[in-house]
Amino acid sequence: MKKFVYFSLLVFLLTSFIYVRFLKGEVKKDGTDTDRKNYIGVKYEIGKGETFIQILRKSHLKKDVIDSIVKSFSKIYNPKKIDVKDQVFIFTDEDFNFRRLEYKNDPAKTYVVEYTSKYKSYVIDNRVTVSIEFLEGEVVDNLINAIKSTGENEKLALKFTKIFDWRFDVFSEVKKGDKFTILFEKKYIDGEFYQYGDIIYASFENDRNLYEGFLFDDGNGKFYYDQNGNSLEGTFLKAPLATYYRISSRFTSKRYHPILKKYIPHYAIDYSAPKKTPVYAASDGYIIYVGYNYIGGKTIRIDHENGYSSEYCHLHGYAKGIKVGKFVKQGEVIGYVGKTGYATGYHLHFAVKKNGKFINPLKIKNEKSVTIDPSQLKDYKIYVDNVRTLVLGIKSFKNFPSMFSKSDFIFKYADTFGKSPNI
Ligand SMILES: [Zn+2]
Repeated sequence: MKKFVYFSLLVFLLTSFIYVRFLKGEVKKDGTDTDRKNYIGVKYEIGKGETFIQILRKSHLKKDVIDSIVKSFSKIYNPKKIDVKDQVFIFTDEDFNFRRLEYKNDPAKTYVVEYTSKYKSYVIDNRVTVSIEFLEGEVVDNLINAIKSTGENEKLALKFTKIFDWRFDVFSEVKKGDKFTILFEKKYIDGEFYQYGDIIYASFENDRNLYEGFLFDDGNGKFYYDQNGNSLEGTFLKAPLATYYRISSRFTSKRYHPILKKYIPHYAIDYSAPKKTPVYAASDGYIIYVGYNYIGGKTIRIDHENGYSSEYCHLHGYAKGIKVGKFVKQGEVIGYVGKTGYATGYHLHFAVKKNGKFINPLKIKNEKSVTIDPSQLKDYKIYVDNVRTLVLGIKSFKNFPSMFSKSDFIFKYADTFGKSPNI
């Protein structure tokens, strides 16, 4: 029994010894250097016109060491690309032998050259924390200042105005009292602000309209869409309606007409929608026709750039100020859904011509992006509802300030991408 106790003790001591050795050893199994306690580090900041080699020379390293460092560093970064204010840290041991170099030009990355038994280089992705943050406010003089006054910087303001560029003039049309909300990603490194990520949701409200932008990836990349899935960036709105719609008739060369009781082509899309639903101009352009005809009922036609024109039929009425020659912007209300002319129910008959020939509005290739893939529309509507619910929830929490220690609502949703810096 005693022998067994001694044996166990011996095994314990032996394994402890090995364990301690492993922790204090100079080189871990993967080759990274762990014994940095006795290193001497010097920090250099790149001056104007200064080169990487000049910095290394300043550190009084031997020529062959400098050559090896440059060779190793070149595998992870082009030394010619180092720039003013970038930082270089050089670490030597007590005998001034080179041990490690760190290069930083972006808080998210550290480029390392290390010497233990040989030179090696690698990149450390520093720990980036992403939080989703929310802000809302009111315009006093302009949008940029309004967003900056919340404590955020101009970069966020410009990201915001860019989302709505296609819907309104973010500079001249914005006035005192207009409201905005932004749900956005903010990235931090070690608790310090690093950069903005995506704006996930943005809204802008004036006394006439509520504009919303939802960032969504339908498989063709991330773009901003309105609540109906119309791209905020495209040249053409494909469903030029303010609220709910359903496609009741598609573009076809042969369709049975319930009133005319014969097969005729339908070179348009019919969107079934409630009476008086606002109808948007599908793209910027000049109004070339406003009038009544016995088939289309109250009709508007708009002439756009690049040989396009669009037509809106069966309107209940026209928006104020709509007349021939007027310039309208994409998303501007031009009329309201009705059933004038030959129509069995309330719907918008929407047709597009290119160089005088009818084309399928759903198949227009937008130069900048596309309208949401129709197969994704159902998911998108659910997404829109969820984002709106989230925003309303945050607003409602903010009405109970005693619940929170901070006035800004911050929500952490992701922790880290990459490893912690190990210096
Ligand atoms: Zn139709």
